[in-house]
Amino acid sequence: MPSNLTVELTAPNGRKYTQPTGLFINNEWTPSSDGKTITSINPTTSSNEQEIASVHAASGDDVDRAVKAARKALKHPSWKNLPATDRGVLLNRLADLVEQNRETLATIETWDNGKPYADALNGDLTEVIGTLRYYAGFADKKFGQVIETTPDKFAYTVREPVGVCGQIIPWNFPLAMAAWKLGPALACGNTVVIKAAEQTPLSILFFANLIAEAGFPPGVVNVINGYGNIAGAALASHMDVDKIAFTGSTATAKQIMKMASVNLKNITLETGGKSPLIVFDDADLDQATEWAHIGIMSNQGQICTATSRILVQDGIYDKFLAAFRAQIKNISKIGDPFDENTFQGPQVTKAQYDRIMSYVDIGKQEGAKLECGGEPLTDMGDGKGYFIQPTVFTGVSENMRIYQEEVFGPFVVIQRFSTEEQAVDLANNTTYGLGSAVFTQNLVRAHRVAKNIEAGMVWINSSQDSDWRIPFGGVKQSGIGRELGEAGLEAYSNIKAIHVNMKSKL
Ligand code: ADP
Repeated sequence: MPSNLTVELTAPNGRKYTQPTGLFINNEWTPSSDGKTITSINPTTSSNEQEIASVHAASGDDVDRAVKAARKALKHPSWKNLPATDRGVLLNRLADLVEQNRETLATIETWDNGKPYADALNGDLTEVIGTLRYYAGFADKKFGQVIETTPDKFAYTVREPVGVCGQIIPWNFPLAMAAWKLGPALACGNTVVIKAAEQTPLSILFFANLIAEAGFPPGVVNVINGYGNIAGAALASHMDVDKIAFTGSTATAKQIMKMASVNLKNITLETGGKSPLIVFDDADLDQATEWAHIGIMSNQGQICTATSRILVQDGIYDKFLAAFRAQIKNISKIGDPFDENTFQGPQVTKAQYDRIMSYVDIGKQEGAKLECGGEPLTDMGDGKGYFIQPTVFTGVSENMRIYQEEVFGPFVVIQRFSTEEQAVDLANNTTYGLGSAVFTQNLVRAHRVAKNIEAGMVWINSSQDSDWRIPFGGVKQSGIGRELGEAGLEAYSNIKAIHVNMKSKL
Protein backbone atom coordinates (compact mmCIF):
# COMPACT_ATOMS: atom_id res chain seq x y z
CA MET A 1 0.00 0.00 0.00
CA PRO A 2 1.59 3.39 -0.96
CA SER A 3 2.37 5.12 2.32
CA ASN A 4 0.73 8.35 1.14
CA LEU A 5 -2.55 6.43 1.04
CA THR A 6 -2.48 5.41 4.68
CA VAL A 7 -2.31 7.19 7.97
CA GLU A 8 -1.22 5.82 11.33
CA LEU A 9 -3.94 6.53 13.90
CA THR A 10 -4.51 6.10 17.61
CA ALA A 11 -8.20 5.94 18.50
CA PRO A 12 -9.60 7.50 21.69
CA ASN A 13 -9.57 4.04 23.33
CA GLY A 14 -5.81 3.77 22.69
CA ARG A 15 -6.04 1.31 19.80
CA LYS A 16 -3.40 1.95 17.14
CA TYR A 17 -3.98 0.97 13.55
CA THR A 18 -3.20 1.83 9.92
CA GLN A 19 -6.08 3.60 8.20
CA PRO A 20 -6.25 3.29 4.40
CA THR A 21 -7.27 6.59 2.80
CA GLY A 22 -7.43 5.78 -0.93
CA LEU A 23 -9.83 4.13 -3.33
CA PHE A 24 -9.68 0.34 -3.42
CA ILE A 25 -9.87 -0.67 -7.09
CA ASN A 26 -8.54 -3.95 -8.49
CA ASN A 27 -7.23 -4.90 -5.03
CA GLU A 28 -4.96 -1.84 -5.10
CA TRP A 29 -5.09 1.53 -3.40
CA THR A 30 -5.18 4.56 -5.66
CA PRO A 31 -5.79 8.27 -5.12
CA SER A 32 -8.84 9.99 -6.58
CA SER A 33 -8.28 11.31 -10.10
CA ASP A 34 -8.96 14.92 -9.10
CA GLY A 35 -7.20 14.68 -5.72
CA LYS A 36 -10.39 15.55 -3.82
CA THR A 37 -10.75 14.26 -0.29
CA ILE A 38 -13.41 14.12 2.42
CA THR A 39 -12.50 14.62 6.06
CA SER A 40 -14.05 12.28 8.60
CA ILE A 41 -14.81 13.92 11.91
CA ASN A 42 -15.32 12.51 15.37
CA PRO A 43 -18.95 13.31 16.24
CA THR A 44 -18.21 13.00 19.96
CA THR A 45 -15.82 15.94 19.98
CA SER A 46 -16.21 17.61 16.66
CA SER A 47 -13.87 20.55 17.13
CA ASN A 48 -11.22 20.94 14.43
CA GLU A 49 -8.52 19.06 16.32
CA GLN A 50 -10.82 16.07 16.27
CA GLU A 51 -10.71 15.41 12.56
CA ILE A 52 -9.93 11.72 12.24
CA ALA A 53 -8.60 11.41 8.69
CA SER A 54 -9.03 12.72 5.18
CA VAL A 55 -9.83 10.08 2.61
CA HIS A 56 -10.00 10.24 -1.16
CA ALA A 57 -13.38 10.94 -2.73
CA ALA A 58 -14.20 9.19 -5.99
CA SER A 59 -14.95 11.29 -9.06
CA GLY A 60 -17.11 10.10 -11.93
CA ASP A 61 -13.92 8.95 -13.66
CA ASP A 62 -12.92 6.92 -10.62
CA VAL A 63 -16.32 5.26 -10.54
CA ASP A 64 -15.84 4.39 -14.19
CA ARG A 65 -12.45 2.86 -13.38
CA ALA A 66 -13.97 0.79 -10.62
CA VAL A 67 -16.82 -0.38 -12.84
CA LYS A 68 -14.34 -1.38 -15.55
CA ALA A 69 -12.36 -3.39 -12.99
CA ALA A 70 -15.54 -5.11 -11.83
CA ARG A 71 -16.59 -5.88 -15.42
CA LYS A 72 -13.19 -7.33 -16.22
CA ALA A 73 -13.21 -9.45 -13.07
CA LEU A 74 -16.67 -10.78 -13.92
CA LYS A 75 -15.31 -12.27 -17.14
CA HIS A 76 -11.96 -13.37 -15.78
CA PRO A 77 -11.65 -17.16 -15.36
CA SER A 78 -10.32 -16.73 -11.82
CA TRP A 79 -13.78 -15.53 -10.78
CA LYS A 80 -16.11 -16.64 -13.58
CA ASN A 81 -14.98 -20.26 -13.43
CA LEU A 82 -14.40 -20.42 -9.70
CA PRO A 83 -16.55 -23.25 -8.34
CA ALA A 84 -19.37 -22.01 -6.13
CA THR A 85 -17.93 -23.94 -3.19
CA ASP A 86 -14.72 -21.92 -3.48
CA ARG A 87 -16.65 -18.68 -3.44
CA GLY A 88 -18.03 -19.86 -0.12
CA VAL A 89 -14.51 -20.62 1.10
CA LEU A 90 -13.45 -17.05 0.26
CA LEU A 91 -16.43 -15.59 2.09
CA ASN A 92 -15.66 -17.75 5.14
CA ARG A 93 -12.05 -16.58 5.07
CA LEU A 94 -13.26 -13.00 4.95
CA ALA A 95 -15.50 -13.69 7.95
CA ASP A 96 -12.50 -15.15 9.81
CA LEU A 97 -10.42 -12.06 9.06
CA VAL A 98 -13.21 -9.78 10.26
CA GLU A 99 -13.31 -11.83 13.45
CA GLN A 100 -9.54 -11.48 13.90
CA ASN A 101 -9.83 -7.71 13.41
CA ARG A 102 -13.05 -7.36 15.34
CA GLU A 103 -11.81 -4.89 17.98
CA THR A 104 -10.13 -2.65 15.44
CA LEU A 105 -13.18 -2.58 13.19
CA ALA A 106 -15.49 -1.85 16.13
CA THR A 107 -13.14 0.90 17.28
CA ILE A 108 -13.20 2.58 13.89
CA GLU A 109 -16.97 2.27 13.67
CA THR A 110 -17.43 3.93 17.05
CA TRP A 111 -14.89 6.65 16.39
CA ASP A 112 -16.31 7.61 13.00
CA ASN A 113 -20.02 7.06 13.69
CA GLY A 114 -20.39 7.76 17.41
CA LYS A 115 -22.23 4.54 18.30
CA PRO A 116 -21.42 2.92 21.65
CA TYR A 117 -18.38 0.65 21.38
CA ALA A 118 -20.15 -2.26 23.07
CA ASP A 119 -22.88 -2.08 20.42
CA ALA A 120 -20.36 -1.93 17.57
CA LEU A 121 -18.33 -4.82 19.01
CA ASN A 122 -21.17 -7.12 20.01
CA GLY A 123 -23.93 -5.98 17.69
CA ASP A 124 -22.59 -4.71 14.38
CA LEU A 125 -19.54 -6.98 14.17
CA THR A 126 -21.50 -10.08 15.15
CA GLU A 127 -23.88 -9.25 12.35
CA VAL A 128 -21.09 -8.77 9.82
CA ILE A 129 -19.44 -12.08 10.67
CA GLY A 130 -22.75 -13.97 10.87
CA THR A 131 -23.99 -12.59 7.56
CA LEU A 132 -20.80 -13.42 5.68
CA ARG A 133 -20.78 -16.98 7.07
CA TYR A 134 -24.48 -17.46 6.32
CA TYR A 135 -24.03 -16.53 2.68
CA ALA A 136 -20.76 -18.46 2.45
CA GLY A 137 -22.84 -21.54 3.21
CA PHE A 138 -25.35 -20.67 0.51
CA ALA A 139 -22.75 -20.23 -2.26
CA ASP A 140 -23.04 -23.85 -3.43
CA LYS A 141 -26.63 -24.46 -2.36
CA LYS A 142 -28.54 -22.33 -4.80
CA PHE A 143 -29.15 -23.95 -8.17
CA GLY A 144 -31.69 -24.42 -10.92
CA GLN A 145 -34.46 -26.89 -11.70
CA VAL A 146 -35.35 -29.42 -14.36
CA ILE A 147 -38.86 -28.87 -15.71
CA GLU A 148 -40.45 -31.54 -17.88
CA THR A 149 -43.03 -30.35 -20.38
CA THR A 150 -43.91 -32.86 -23.14
CA PRO A 151 -42.45 -36.31 -23.89
CA ASP A 152 -40.13 -34.65 -26.41
CA LYS A 153 -39.11 -31.58 -24.53
CA PHE A 154 -37.92 -30.36 -21.22
CA ALA A 155 -36.10 -27.35 -19.88
CA TYR A 156 -33.61 -26.72 -17.17
CA THR A 157 -32.85 -23.50 -15.40
CA VAL A 158 -29.54 -22.17 -14.19
CA ARG A 159 -28.87 -19.31 -11.83
CA GLU A 160 -26.47 -16.74 -13.17
CA PRO A 161 -24.99 -13.70 -11.49
CA VAL A 162 -26.73 -10.41 -12.29
CA GLY A 163 -23.34 -8.95 -13.22
CA VAL A 164 -21.66 -5.80 -11.98
CA CYS A 165 -23.47 -4.62 -8.86
CA GLY A 166 -23.27 -1.06 -7.54
CA GLN A 167 -23.91 -0.99 -3.80
CA ILE A 168 -24.57 2.28 -1.98
CA ILE A 169 -24.56 2.08 1.78
CA PRO A 170 -25.55 4.44 4.59
CA TRP A 171 -23.74 5.75 7.66
CA ASN A 172 -25.84 4.28 10.49
CA PHE A 173 -24.50 0.68 10.30
CA PRO A 174 -21.64 1.00 7.80
CA LEU A 175 -20.03 -2.43 8.09
CA ALA A 176 -23.23 -4.34 8.68
CA MET A 177 -24.91 -2.78 5.64
CA ALA A 178 -21.82 -3.63 3.58
CA ALA A 179 -22.02 -7.26 4.74
CA TRP A 180 -25.75 -7.50 3.98
CA LYS A 181 -24.98 -6.53 0.41
CA LEU A 182 -21.62 -8.18 -0.20
CA GLY A 183 -22.58 -11.57 1.25
CA PRO A 184 -25.36 -12.48 -1.21
CA ALA A 185 -23.74 -10.66 -4.14
CA LEU A 186 -20.50 -12.62 -3.83
CA ALA A 187 -22.18 -15.92 -2.99
CA CYS A 188 -24.04 -15.61 -6.31
CA GLY A 189 -20.86 -14.84 -8.30
CA ASN A 190 -21.34 -11.12 -8.99
CA THR A 191 -18.69 -8.45 -8.89
CA VAL A 192 -19.16 -5.29 -6.90
CA VAL A 193 -18.43 -1.59 -6.64
CA ILE A 194 -19.45 -0.57 -3.16
CA LYS A 195 -19.65 3.07 -2.12
CA ALA A 196 -19.34 4.00 1.53
CA ALA A 197 -21.40 6.84 2.96
CA GLU A 198 -19.19 9.95 2.92
CA GLN A 199 -19.87 10.50 6.62
CA THR A 200 -18.45 7.13 7.73
CA PRO A 201 -16.01 5.60 5.22
CA LEU A 202 -13.22 4.56 7.57
CA SER A 203 -14.31 1.08 8.69
CA ILE A 204 -15.24 0.06 5.13
CA LEU A 205 -11.82 1.09 3.84
CA PHE A 206 -10.09 -0.96 6.53
CA PHE A 207 -12.38 -3.88 5.65
CA ALA A 208 -11.29 -3.57 1.97
CA ASN A 209 -7.80 -4.76 2.87
CA LEU A 210 -9.33 -7.90 4.38
CA ILE A 211 -11.04 -8.65 1.05
CA ALA A 212 -7.66 -8.75 -0.70
CA GLU A 213 -6.14 -10.71 2.18
CA ALA A 214 -8.93 -13.29 2.00
CA GLY A 215 -7.92 -13.97 -1.60
CA PHE A 216 -10.73 -12.49 -3.69
CA PRO A 217 -9.35 -11.93 -7.22
CA PRO A 218 -8.63 -8.30 -8.21
CA GLY A 219 -11.68 -6.33 -9.28
CA VAL A 220 -14.25 -8.62 -7.67
CA VAL A 221 -14.89 -6.11 -4.87
CA ASN A 222 -13.99 -2.46 -5.37
CA VAL A 223 -14.51 -0.12 -2.44
CA ILE A 224 -14.79 3.62 -2.87
CA ASN A 225 -15.67 6.57 -0.74
CA GLY A 226 -17.38 9.53 -2.33
CA TYR A 227 -20.22 11.99 -2.23
CA GLY A 228 -23.68 10.73 -3.00
CA ASN A 229 -24.44 13.25 -5.71
CA ILE A 230 -21.09 12.58 -7.44
CA ALA A 231 -19.89 9.01 -6.90
CA GLY A 232 -23.29 7.58 -5.94
CA ALA A 233 -24.99 9.22 -8.89
CA ALA A 234 -22.21 8.10 -11.27
CA LEU A 235 -22.72 4.53 -10.11
CA ALA A 236 -26.52 4.63 -10.30
CA SER A 237 -26.49 6.10 -13.81
CA HIS A 238 -23.56 4.08 -15.19
CA MET A 239 -24.44 2.24 -18.39
CA ASP A 240 -22.26 -0.75 -17.53
CA VAL A 241 -23.63 -1.41 -14.05
CA ASP A 242 -26.30 -4.12 -13.99
CA LYS A 243 -27.73 -3.62 -10.54
CA ILE A 244 -27.99 -1.03 -7.81
CA ALA A 245 -28.59 -2.01 -4.21
CA PHE A 246 -29.18 0.97 -1.96
CA THR A 247 -29.90 1.63 1.68
CA GLY A 248 -30.70 5.19 2.70
CA SER A 249 -33.44 7.78 2.64
CA THR A 250 -36.60 7.48 0.57
CA ALA A 251 -35.87 10.80 -1.14
CA THR A 252 -32.49 9.57 -2.37
CA ALA A 253 -33.97 6.20 -3.36
CA LYS A 254 -36.38 7.99 -5.68
CA GLN A 255 -33.50 9.73 -7.41
CA ILE A 256 -31.57 6.47 -7.66
CA MET A 257 -34.56 4.69 -9.16
CA LYS A 258 -34.75 7.36 -11.85
CA MET A 259 -31.04 7.21 -12.57
CA ALA A 260 -31.08 3.41 -12.63
CA SER A 261 -33.68 3.50 -15.39
CA VAL A 262 -31.07 4.62 -17.96
CA ASN A 263 -30.24 0.99 -18.67
CA LEU A 264 -33.10 -0.64 -16.77
CA LYS A 265 -30.93 -1.72 -13.86
CA ASN A 266 -32.13 -4.31 -11.44
CA ILE A 267 -32.74 -2.50 -8.12
CA THR A 268 -33.02 -3.29 -4.46
CA LEU A 269 -33.97 -0.34 -2.27
CA GLU A 270 -34.13 -0.28 1.52
CA THR A 271 -35.33 3.12 2.59
CA GLY A 272 -37.01 5.08 5.36
CA GLY A 273 -39.67 4.33 7.92
CA LYS A 274 -41.98 5.70 10.58
CA SER A 275 -42.63 2.38 12.21
CA PRO A 276 -45.49 1.99 14.68
CA LEU A 277 -45.28 0.20 18.03
CA ILE A 278 -48.72 -0.66 19.40
CA VAL A 279 -49.26 -1.28 23.12
CA PHE A 280 -52.61 -2.86 24.04
CA ASP A 281 -54.18 -2.65 27.51
CA ASP A 282 -53.28 -6.29 28.25
CA ALA A 283 -49.58 -5.88 27.38
CA ASP A 284 -46.86 -6.79 29.86
CA LEU A 285 -46.02 -3.22 30.84
CA ASP A 286 -42.34 -3.80 31.70
CA GLN A 287 -41.75 -5.73 28.51
CA ALA A 288 -43.50 -3.11 26.37
CA THR A 289 -41.62 -0.26 28.02
CA GLU A 290 -38.21 -1.86 27.63
CA TRP A 291 -38.67 -2.68 23.96
CA ALA A 292 -40.36 0.62 23.15
CA HIS A 293 -37.31 2.36 24.59
CA ILE A 294 -34.82 0.20 22.69
CA GLY A 295 -36.97 0.51 19.59
CA ILE A 296 -36.42 4.23 19.27
CA MET A 297 -33.46 5.18 21.45
CA SER A 298 -30.86 2.57 20.47
CA ASN A 299 -28.20 3.55 17.89
CA GLN A 300 -29.11 7.17 18.76
CA GLY A 301 -32.45 6.64 17.03
CA GLN A 302 -30.63 6.28 13.73
CA ILE A 303 -32.28 3.09 12.54
CA CYS A 304 -34.55 2.85 9.53
CA THR A 305 -36.81 0.41 11.41
CA ALA A 306 -36.90 2.52 14.61
CA THR A 307 -40.34 2.29 16.18
CA SER A 308 -40.77 6.05 16.20
CA ARG A 309 -44.56 6.16 16.61
CA ILE A 310 -45.80 4.59 19.82
CA LEU A 311 -49.56 3.96 19.91
CA VAL A 312 -50.96 3.16 23.35
CA GLN A 313 -54.44 2.00 24.31
CA ASP A 314 -56.43 4.25 26.68
CA GLY A 315 -56.46 1.86 29.65
CA ILE A 316 -52.68 1.62 29.93
CA TYR A 317 -51.71 5.01 28.49
CA ASP A 318 -50.89 6.88 31.72
CA LYS A 319 -48.97 3.95 33.21
CA PHE A 320 -47.04 3.44 29.99
CA LEU A 321 -46.10 7.10 29.66
CA ALA A 322 -44.83 7.21 33.25
CA ALA A 323 -42.88 3.97 32.78
CA PHE A 324 -41.40 5.12 29.47
CA ARG A 325 -40.21 8.40 30.98
CA ALA A 326 -38.69 6.47 33.89
CA GLN A 327 -36.96 4.13 31.48
CA ILE A 328 -35.40 7.07 29.65
CA LYS A 329 -34.16 8.46 32.94
CA ASN A 330 -32.75 5.15 34.15
CA ILE A 331 -31.25 3.74 30.97
CA SER A 332 -30.29 6.56 28.67
CA LYS A 333 -26.78 7.19 29.89
CA ILE A 334 -25.54 9.61 27.28
CA GLY A 335 -21.90 10.37 26.67
CA ASP A 336 -18.55 9.05 25.47
CA PRO A 337 -19.32 6.11 23.19
CA PHE A 338 -16.11 4.39 24.32
CA ASP A 339 -17.38 4.35 27.94
CA GLU A 340 -18.81 0.88 28.55
CA ASN A 341 -21.80 2.31 30.46
CA THR A 342 -22.91 4.57 27.64
CA PHE A 343 -26.25 3.79 26.06
CA GLN A 344 -26.43 6.76 23.71
CA GLY A 345 -23.59 8.48 21.87
CA PRO A 346 -23.68 11.56 19.66
CA GLN A 347 -25.63 11.89 16.41
CA VAL A 348 -23.44 11.12 13.43
CA THR A 349 -23.08 14.60 11.93
CA LYS A 350 -23.98 18.23 12.40
CA ALA A 351 -26.50 17.88 9.56
CA GLN A 352 -28.35 15.10 11.40
CA TYR A 353 -28.13 16.95 14.71
CA ASP A 354 -29.58 20.11 13.10
CA ARG A 355 -32.29 18.09 11.40
CA ILE A 356 -33.46 16.52 14.67
CA MET A 357 -33.37 19.86 16.49
CA SER A 358 -35.44 21.40 13.69
CA TYR A 359 -38.08 18.71 14.26
CA VAL A 360 -38.22 19.72 17.94
CA ASP A 361 -39.16 23.22 16.78
CA ILE A 362 -41.65 21.82 14.27
CA GLY A 363 -43.30 19.72 16.99
CA LYS A 364 -43.66 22.75 19.24
CA GLN A 365 -45.04 24.88 16.41
CA GLU A 366 -47.53 22.18 15.51
CA GLY A 367 -48.86 22.29 19.05
CA ALA A 368 -47.69 18.89 20.26
CA LYS A 369 -46.67 18.54 23.91
CA LEU A 370 -42.96 18.14 24.60
CA GLU A 371 -42.94 15.57 27.43
CA CYS A 372 -39.18 15.46 27.85
CA GLY A 373 -35.89 16.15 26.08
CA GLY A 374 -35.78 18.42 23.06
CA GLU A 375 -32.50 20.00 24.09
CA PRO A 376 -28.92 19.48 22.95
CA LEU A 377 -26.40 18.39 25.54
CA THR A 378 -23.50 20.79 25.54
CA ASP A 379 -21.74 19.47 28.63
CA MET A 380 -20.48 16.31 26.89
CA GLY A 381 -16.92 15.76 25.67
CA ASP A 382 -15.43 19.07 24.59
CA GLY A 383 -18.91 20.56 24.35
CA LYS A 384 -18.90 20.36 20.59
CA GLY A 385 -20.25 16.85 20.12
CA TYR A 386 -23.65 16.24 18.55
CA PHE A 387 -25.51 15.03 21.64
CA ILE A 388 -29.28 15.33 21.94
CA GLN A 389 -31.53 14.44 24.87
CA PRO A 390 -34.02 11.62 24.27
CA THR A 391 -37.11 13.49 23.12
CA VAL A 392 -40.76 12.55 23.56
CA PHE A 393 -43.80 14.34 22.17
CA THR A 394 -47.40 13.53 23.10
CA GLY A 395 -50.63 15.24 22.11
CA VAL A 396 -49.88 14.54 18.47
CA SER A 397 -52.32 14.16 15.63
CA GLU A 398 -52.05 12.26 12.38
CA ASN A 399 -51.58 15.28 10.17
CA MET A 400 -48.57 16.60 12.07
CA ARG A 401 -45.20 16.44 10.38
CA ILE A 402 -43.63 14.94 13.50
CA TYR A 403 -46.17 12.12 13.23
CA GLN A 404 -45.63 11.51 9.50
CA GLU A 405 -41.98 12.29 8.73
CA GLU A 406 -38.90 10.27 9.56
CA VAL A 407 -36.73 12.20 12.04
CA PHE A 408 -33.92 9.65 12.44
CA GLY A 409 -32.92 10.50 15.97
CA PRO A 410 -33.80 9.84 19.63
CA PHE A 411 -37.20 11.36 18.95
CA VAL A 412 -40.55 9.65 19.42
CA VAL A 413 -44.22 10.55 19.29
CA ILE A 414 -46.74 8.82 21.55
CA GLN A 415 -50.42 8.70 20.67
CA ARG A 416 -53.47 7.13 22.33
CA PHE A 417 -56.08 4.89 20.78
CA SER A 418 -59.26 3.11 21.93
CA THR A 419 -59.94 0.12 19.70
CA GLU A 420 -57.90 -2.42 17.77
CA GLU A 421 -59.38 -1.18 14.52
CA GLN A 422 -58.32 2.35 15.33
CA ALA A 423 -54.82 1.18 16.24
CA VAL A 424 -54.39 -0.57 12.90
CA ASP A 425 -55.73 2.45 11.00
CA LEU A 426 -53.33 4.74 12.85
CA ALA A 427 -50.44 2.35 12.30
CA ASN A 428 -51.14 2.17 8.57
CA ASN A 429 -51.68 5.89 8.07
CA THR A 430 -48.17 6.46 6.74
CA THR A 431 -46.43 6.42 3.40
CA TYR A 432 -43.91 4.02 4.91
CA GLY A 433 -44.10 0.30 5.67
CA LEU A 434 -40.90 -1.04 7.16
CA GLY A 435 -41.07 -2.33 10.76
CA SER A 436 -43.94 -2.56 13.24
CA ALA A 437 -44.44 -3.92 16.73
CA VAL A 438 -47.43 -5.13 18.72
CA PHE A 439 -47.55 -5.72 22.46
CA THR A 440 -50.38 -7.86 23.81
CA GLN A 441 -50.83 -11.09 25.78
CA ASN A 442 -53.70 -12.06 23.51
CA LEU A 443 -52.32 -14.50 20.97
CA VAL A 444 -55.15 -14.23 18.53
CA ARG A 445 -55.05 -10.48 18.53
CA ALA A 446 -51.26 -10.45 18.11
CA HIS A 447 -51.47 -12.49 14.91
CA ARG A 448 -54.53 -10.66 13.63
CA VAL A 449 -52.83 -7.29 14.00
CA ALA A 450 -49.62 -8.65 12.50
CA LYS A 451 -51.63 -9.70 9.46
CA ASN A 452 -53.35 -6.34 9.09
CA ILE A 453 -50.34 -4.10 9.46
CA GLU A 454 -48.82 -2.80 6.23
CA ALA A 455 -45.14 -3.46 6.88
CA GLY A 456 -42.31 -5.68 5.76
CA MET A 457 -41.67 -6.86 9.31
CA VAL A 458 -43.72 -7.25 12.50
CA TRP A 459 -42.34 -7.85 15.97
CA ILE A 460 -44.71 -9.47 18.45
CA ASN A 461 -43.77 -8.38 21.97
CA SER A 462 -40.41 -7.14 20.77
CA SER A 463 -38.79 -4.50 18.57
CA GLN A 464 -35.82 -4.26 16.19
CA ASP A 465 -35.12 -7.99 15.99
CA SER A 466 -32.96 -8.52 12.94
CA ASP A 467 -31.22 -11.70 11.95
CA TRP A 468 -29.30 -12.67 8.84
CA ARG A 469 -31.53 -15.72 8.45
CA ILE A 470 -34.69 -13.61 8.23
CA PRO A 471 -35.74 -11.51 5.20
CA PHE A 472 -35.57 -7.77 5.80
CA GLY A 473 -37.24 -5.04 3.77
CA GLY A 474 -40.21 -2.79 3.36
CA VAL A 475 -43.45 -2.17 1.52
CA LYS A 476 -44.94 1.13 0.30
CA GLN A 477 -42.23 3.82 0.30
CA SER A 478 -39.93 1.81 2.56
CA GLY A 479 -38.35 -0.10 -0.25
CA ILE A 480 -38.29 -2.64 -3.03
CA GLY A 481 -36.96 -6.16 -2.64
CA ARG A 482 -35.59 -8.05 0.34
CA GLU A 483 -32.17 -8.42 1.90
CA LEU A 484 -30.98 -11.20 4.22
CA GLY A 485 -32.28 -14.73 4.48
CA GLU A 486 -32.70 -16.94 1.46
CA ALA A 487 -34.83 -14.17 -0.03
CA GLY A 488 -31.74 -11.98 -0.11
CA LEU A 489 -30.21 -14.23 -2.77
CA GLU A 490 -33.05 -13.57 -5.19
CA ALA A 491 -31.79 -10.05 -5.68
CA TYR A 492 -28.41 -11.23 -6.91
CA SER A 493 -29.10 -13.91 -9.52
CA ASN A 494 -30.98 -14.18 -12.79
CA ILE A 495 -32.68 -17.38 -13.84
CA LYS A 496 -31.88 -18.62 -17.33
CA ALA A 497 -34.21 -21.20 -18.89
CA ILE A 498 -32.63 -23.64 -21.37
CA HIS A 499 -35.11 -25.50 -23.54
CA VAL A 500 -34.16 -28.94 -24.87
CA ASN A 501 -35.85 -30.61 -27.85
CA MET A 502 -35.29 -34.38 -28.21
CA LYS A 503 -37.49 -34.96 -31.25
CA SER A 504 -35.70 -34.92 -34.59
CA LYS A 505 -38.73 -33.96 -36.75
CA LEU A 506 -41.51 -31.47 -36.10
P1 ADP B 1 -28.81 10.63 4.48
O1 ADP B 1 -29.67 11.73 3.97
O2 ADP B 1 -29.29 10.09 5.75
O3 ADP B 1 -27.35 10.92 4.48
P2 ADP B 1 -28.86 9.31 1.95
O4 ADP B 1 -29.95 8.47 1.46
O5 ADP B 1 -28.70 10.64 1.30
O6 ADP B 1 -29.05 9.43 3.50
O7 ADP B 1 -27.47 8.55 1.85
C1 ADP B 1 -27.32 7.17 1.81
C2 ADP B 1 -26.27 6.82 0.78
O8 ADP B 1 -26.72 7.30 -0.48
C3 ADP B 1 -24.90 7.45 1.01
O9 ADP B 1 -23.91 6.53 0.59
C4 ADP B 1 -24.94 8.65 0.09
O10 ADP B 1 -23.64 9.06 -0.35
C5 ADP B 1 -25.72 8.10 -1.08
N1 ADP B 1 -26.37 9.15 -1.90
C6 ADP B 1 -26.83 10.35 -1.50
N2 ADP B 1 -27.33 11.04 -2.53
C7 ADP B 1 -27.17 10.28 -3.64
C8 ADP B 1 -27.50 10.43 -5.03
N3 ADP B 1 -28.07 11.52 -5.49
N4 ADP B 1 -27.18 9.41 -5.86
C9 ADP B 1 -26.62 8.28 -5.40
N5 ADP B 1 -26.29 8.07 -4.12
C10 ADP B 1 -26.56 9.05 -3.23
